[in-house]
Amino acid sequence: MDQAIQKALRALPSVDELLNHPRAVPFKGLHPRAEVVAAAREALAAARREILAGEGGGTIDVPGPQAPTAEDLLTTTEALLTAWSAPGLRRVFNLTGVVVHTNLGRSCLPASVTDRVAEVARSYSTLEYDLDAGGRGTREVHVEALLTRLTGAEAAFVVNNNAGAVLLLLMALASGREVLVSRGQLVEIGGSFRLPDIMRAGGVTLVEVGTTNRTRVGDYEAAVTADTALILRVHTSNYRILGFTEEAELQELVELGRRRGVPVADDLGSGALVPLGAFAAEPDVAASLRSGVDVVCFSGDKLLGGPQAGILVGRAEVIDRLRKHPVARALRLDKLTLAALEATLQLYRDPERAMREIPTLRCLNRTPEETGALAQALQAAIEDRCEDGFILEVEKTGARAGGGALPLAEVPSHAVRLRIPEPPVQSAAPEGTARPAGAAGGPGGSEGTDVAASRATKATVSALEAQLRRAPVPVIARVAQDSVFLDVLALDPDDVETVADSIAWAVEQVVG
Ligand SMILES: *Cc1c(COP(=O)(O)O)cnc(C)c1O
Repeated sequence: MDQAIQKALRALPSVDELLNHPRAVPFKGLHPRAEVVAAAREALAAARREILAGEGGGTIDVPGPQAPTAEDLLTTTEALLTAWSAPGLRRVFNLTGVVVHTNLGRSCLPASVTDRVAEVARSYSTLEYDLDAGGRGTREVHVEALLTRLTGAEAAFVVNNNAGAVLLLLMALASGREVLVSRGQLVEIGGSFRLPDIMRAGGVTLVEVGTTNRTRVGDYEAAVTADTALILRVHTSNYRILGFTEEAELQELVELGRRRGVPVADDLGSGALVPLGAFAAEPDVAASLRSGVDVVCFSGDKLLGGPQAGILVGRAEVIDRLRKHPVARALRLDKLTLAALEATLQLYRDPERAMREIPTLRCLNRTPEETGALAQALQAAIEDRCEDGFILEVEKTGARAGGGALPLAEVPSHAVRLRIPEPPVQSAAPEGTARPAGAAGGPGGSEGTDVAASRATKATVSALEAQLRRAPVPVIARVAQDSVFLDVLALDPDDVETVADSIAWAVEQVVG
């Protein structure tokens, strides 16, 4: 082995030496001893790997790999301990302009709902206990009556998520048999939920009906055989097929199903419970049931604004088959989710109250005046905290519901747009020629410097977006047009000051 490498390896301190070093004192007591030892070992192992790879520390005077100092190793140790003790699942601010953002946890629960969750989490509860009978009860009973009253369904059943609800209804109603689905409705939701895959997993044969853009009820009728167990309508929640298109009406499918003795299921995906305001264009659960389908399923955490759950409502006889299927047990809700779902549904007893108190609903129904005022408040709070060095403007945006709801509808909103002024350009554009920020090669300008300036702006903007994600409470924003857009549609007004703190922190890292 290279002598320089051997020398560097020998120069590394032992774990004990590291732990007894004064530099370890400030953090040693803050973490469990076993973790401190493990972190020191890992810091040493990383240093050893670097030395063996011939990396690390060589200078002109002393060539070859060098052992890091004990101080450096302890800095690495402390960083590891900090990373290990920080929660991975934590709070962020959603300034993306997508309210039901699947990657950011979809819906936020109101305080009245989280209070109930906390109480049930801390105590014993009536999860499966019937207080009147003094004995065993069922866990679903807590939400079923609410759901039937709210939707007008005969019966209801809840599972872990809507993908689970679709799987359960396929397995319980159509295992080993055929299910008819329009070619225009073979959806993929978020990469992991693809209808044809769920069908295969559920052991049912998918029979594709019609074409991608046009499917008529006659296509379904022609595909019905003695083996057809179910007609499934899927709400194309995250896309639309536009132009020369046709879809069979739910009503027509119901009539066909009655004539041929085939049940009809409707996967609504987002499922609005109240057809108010922003959701006017989204099919609502009660309307779907009124058309006569046997069972409707939808998510708990999309437009409902509650916890992750899959909700099934429909005819009593069909819901009973779902309830009794062995897989239902594997998909059941835990008590925390049940508490959250029950408390959320109770808010819907008064739809106006639901609109006011459920964050997803409240945000989606904000007026442009409200988002404009909120964006101005955020702009002012950022200005209070930051020196110059960038440009802040309030701009109109087209935000989105997200979660696969209302895919084409833009929700009018506002954002604080944060731009970095370009570095001064040597050969200026002729007087009176306005050049939009970040636009390369303006008329009369020196193309080379403009392109370089634009590149510098782009780099700064993406650095700022990255620092926003590292802020004390991370801020998730959107980069477009060489700017960072901080959309306020999903921002709680009570959080303006805290968000501004995080933004000021990120700006400080970038602009200095
Ligand atoms: C979102 C969605 C699902 C999956 O629901 P999860 O609650 O995410 O499991 C299924 N079908 C449709 C049409 C959807 O929009």
